Amino acid sequence: MALQTQIAAMKHSKQGTERATADSGRRAHTKERPHSLETRTEQVLTGESIGVGVAIGPAFVVREDPAPDLRERLSSLDRDEEEGRFRDAVIRSISQLGKLQARLALLPEDSQFEIGSLLDVYRRMLGPSRLQRGVIRRIAEGLSAEVAVFEETEALAQASHPPQGARAGSGEDAAAARRRADEFREIGRRLLRNLTRTPFLTLRGMPDGAILVTESLRPSDAALIDPSRVAAVVSEEGGATGHTAIMLRALGIPAVLAVAGALDAVAGGAQVVVDGDRGRIVVDPAHDTLVEARGAVATYAQDRQKLGRMRRLSSKLASGEKVLLQANLELPAELPLIAQSGAAGIGLLRTEFLFINSEELPDETTQFELYASLVEAMGADTTTIRVLDWGGEKPSEALERAGLSTLGETPNPALGLRGIRLLLKHPALLETQLAAILRASAVGPLQVLLPMVTVAEEITAARDIYERVARRLRRKGVALAETLPPFGAMIETPAAALTAGVLAHHADFLAIGTNDLTMYALAADRASADAASLYDARHPAVLRMIADVVNAALQHRTPVSLCGEIAGDPALAPLLVGLGLRSLSMTASAVPRVKQVIRSVRYEECVRLGRRVLAETDSRAIMKVLQEFGNAEVG
Ligand code: PEP
Ligand code: MG
Repeated sequence: MALQTQIAAMKHSKQGTERATADSGRRAHTKERPHSLETRTEQVLTGESIGVGVAIGPAFVVREDPAPDLRERLSSLDRDEEEGRFRDAVIRSISQLGKLQARLALLPEDSQFEIGSLLDVYRRMLGPSRLQRGVIRRIAEGLSAEVAVFEETEALAQASHPPQGARAGSGEDAAAARRRADEFREIGRRLLRNLTRTPFLTLRGMPDGAILVTESLRPSDAALIDPSRVAAVVSEEGGATGHTAIMLRALGIPAVLAVAGALDAVAGGAQVVVDGDRGRIVVDPAHDTLVEARGAVATYAQDRQKLGRMRRLSSKLASGEKVLLQANLELPAELPLIAQSGAAGIGLLRTEFLFINSEELPDETTQFELYASLVEAMGADTTTIRVLDWGGEKPSEALERAGLSTLGETPNPALGLRGIRLLLKHPALLETQLAAILRASAVGPLQVLLPMVTVAEEITAARDIYERVARRLRRKGVALAETLPPFGAMIETPAAALTAGVLAHHADFLAIGTNDLTMYALAADRASADAASLYDARHPAVLRMIADVVNAALQHRTPVSLCGEIAGDPALAPLLVGLGLRSLSMTASAVPRVKQVIRSVRYEECVRLGRRVLAETDSRAIMKVLQEFGNAEVG
């Protein structure tokens, strides 16, 4: 080997041992590359750009597990046992989907919606469906559960989208049919893995900060990726608008999908630059490429750091008024995000997660331990715990077993026994939760929040229970906060908004839930793709209701906050302040950007903006006013 080439190779090899920081949010990572005197020329591969910046790291190549052996067609078990195996696999699959559903809380709302509806499709397939009936019929014919599942899901997939394009149709129809076929195959794969106990995509042995290189990554696998461990993702399959891409973007993981030949081109441990913005990867990058990539990583990190610095800055308008910014929390796993975001407490703890993934109702001690740990973690900042808001639209094994779920029995779950209505119908559920919350009140400041209130009697009935539970605990000598924590009501229905004055009289505080308020005010389902264009919190009806609720609360000197998704939209923050709000609770990751905007605007400007917006009569005009305000701010 010529001297020049040897030097180049040694330099190249040294680069592999250098520290490469994937981005500011991730920890730095190192990867020893075996020293080699062999020269590697860099190789550039392109694919679909998913965004979220640039990452550098060692490749961790994961190949699909081989498909289960389906040669043994006939079952050696009796029919009931074989059917039992299938039913076990269904239960395991449903429980896994429930866990994925719970993780959706970490994503922005549009991604939650996309992935959530996909998970709903899977869950429906696993319910009493054609798929289930077909598998059981095949098992009755003597087939093993594995073969029955494979053949039934394949038959359904082919019926949806016949091979060779045997069915004519427009491009969109064909794409929808293909997606449907993929959904059947995906659920079939999940059932097969559970039947054969084959592990799902396993990242065991993957060094932190590695680049995951894989043939295909399903949304359900992507949802389980820990962004603090995986620097980037490269996959041979997938597309920029697929569910996997949405999930990766939401998790902040740089990725390039649809990279043909990635598995052949990338050896395990090879250094890879993933440029998620330009949709290209560079394997064994040359010196200049690496320098450029490091520059890009640094720039991205600086941008994030700027926002990170917001954490320490106070949340005040440029004119000095304080605006409380808190975080919504749907899973305890989000707790570190809250600390990083600089949120001043939890403005909304959705307690549904306690009921989603468990077969039994959580008892008082289980709930107490959880609430107490969150309250303790928040220190002097308040935690607002919302009691169970069960809508009947999500399956909960625990509630079903306890005979409390109305799932499937009501034609329109959003208008049925939701939230406080369900709790007052089954007061034991509310008593247990209130007892756990009251016990946690000895640990630190908290508040109790009631969901889906429509009449004042719901607040008074729940408060009676609250006070009775407190008296019982005190009689038993259980430590509670000296004065009972504030007892508040959510304003999520037009009925509540239009009678906010009455509710403000009965509640210690109000929290406006614009996600539901928008749905009920505009009669547009928040989870329906068909109604998505109608669902807009900037509709004058919604904004006027917000303004009225705030005024009613101020008149009664009742504190009021807003905790729907719009609280986390930086473009709306000045408007919400202008409508009179001083307390907003949002997804933790939104706090720094909202704070940045809050710090840049003056109170009088916000009030003027509020007045201008309330004078408009349609959403489009309101959007224009908001845009002009935003442009003026930037300019
Ligand atoms: C809301 O409806 O705005 C709200 C905060 O509650 P959830 O999104 O949990 O229904
Ligand atoms: Mg709600």
